[in-house]
Amino acid sequence: MKYDVVIIGSGSVGSFAGYYASKLGLKVCLLDNFLPPHSNGSYHGDTRIFRIAYGEGEKYIPLLQRAFRLWGEFEQASGQRIFERCGVLNIGDPASEFMRNVAKSSEDFALNTTPLSPKDLSQLYGINVPSDFVGILERETGFVYSDRSVESAIRLACELGAHLLVAQITRIDKRDGIYHIHTDSSQILADKILLSAGSFASEILSVCELDLPQIPVKPKRKMLNWFDSSSYQLRDGMPAFIMEFNGDHFYGFPDFGSGVKIGLNVFGQDITTRDELGSFGDIDSDKRAISEHIREFIPHLGELSKGAVCTYAMTPDEGFVIEFIDSCMLYLGGLSHGFKFAPALGELGISALQSGELPSEICQHFSLARFDS
Ligand SMILES: Cc1cc2nc3c(=O)[nH]c(=O)nc-3n(C[C@H](O)[C@H](O)[C@H](O)COP(=O)(O)OP(=O)(O)OC[C@H]3O[C@@H](n4cnc5c(N)ncnc54)[C@H](O)[C@@H]3O)c2cc1C
Repeated sequence: MKYDVVIIGSGSVGSFAGYYASKLGLKVCLLDNFLPPHSNGSYHGDTRIFRIAYGEGEKYIPLLQRAFRLWGEFEQASGQRIFERCGVLNIGDPASEFMRNVAKSSEDFALNTTPLSPKDLSQLYGINVPSDFVGILERETGFVYSDRSVESAIRLACELGAHLLVAQITRIDKRDGIYHIHTDSSQILADKILLSAGSFASEILSVCELDLPQIPVKPKRKMLNWFDSSSYQLRDGMPAFIMEFNGDHFYGFPDFGSGVKIGLNVFGQDITTRDELGSFGDIDSDKRAISEHIREFIPHLGELSKGAVCTYAMTPDEGFVIEFIDSCMLYLGGLSHGFKFAPALGELGISALQSGELPSEICQHFSLARFDS
């Protein structure tokens, strides 16, 4: 079977790329080595934060604004609740780079944010922070249901004619300008490939019989903790939050039925293969790293009720990699903070494959060339 585009990795970005490509009437194959939605990628665990006032820097904001619009349209098309607009609280030392970026992006892009004092944070949300910290609440943002989004995007793509193929890729080569993708069950052909295979994309690069560049994306093992709670309820107006502490960020979600979910942004273990990922609790710190400190700030949490492990796809500068690595093969990865961007990146990936080029501002910020020096 020959496709206009084969999307290798049908997770966060790939599922949306499949949806937008199918909407354009392209003949699309969504390929994955596990049946999505599953817990072998980077999107499981129910939810991901969506924020626009961005501590990671202003270069992301045009994509975030596009993603915000697309999330709304996608929610309508899916017929499901996808986006909880409960707001996001950014909390930290106002002199830190993260909080300065949040404040600056808010001002430069006229975002709807409200500054909050430690007293406000305590009275409004039951969050205790040092007296020299500030809060910046971005009201129109919040969180998206991640597993549900991937499932819906694939369902919509398939309704529009896309094929979902679950198979192990054994080899990719190219003859007469056509990609031949060999799997353990069949061989498919593609005019164009979007490679959106997340943290373990190197598995695919290693079986490509093509002259491809080195891509410095490595997996990092992360864990998530859920705590029992009768406070911090979504229905009571609790927002999602991201809070700086000791060189790391706690980020969390209000309880909507399964507890308060909290993660740590920096803490985790560098790994190279899937086998090293293991299960939640395999490493002693899985249960301790968050529990040890979090009650200082979020005092009304109950017991740790469950956990999960997941991976970040890390680049040396934590920025994305968006690059043509062969004439008709686009690599889109290195997304350690990328779920919120998924519709915008999926759309961008398909548009670039169609036109054969990437917008200059994307090349400027996200190309591989930045790692050369
Ligand atoms: C604990 C945690 C919390 C996070 N919190 C947030 C947050 O709050 N907000 C936010 O915006 N982002 C967050 N992120 C980051 C976000 O989830 C990721 O950036 C995003 O999911 C990455 O999308 P992706 O499409 O690159 O990869 P994935 O969604 O992982 O998709 C990759 C797909 O490729 C498939 N694949 C892999 N190898 C192969 C192969 N050999 N053959 C075929 N298919 C293959 C996988 O099975 C998977 O389906 C978080 C990540 C983690 C781990």
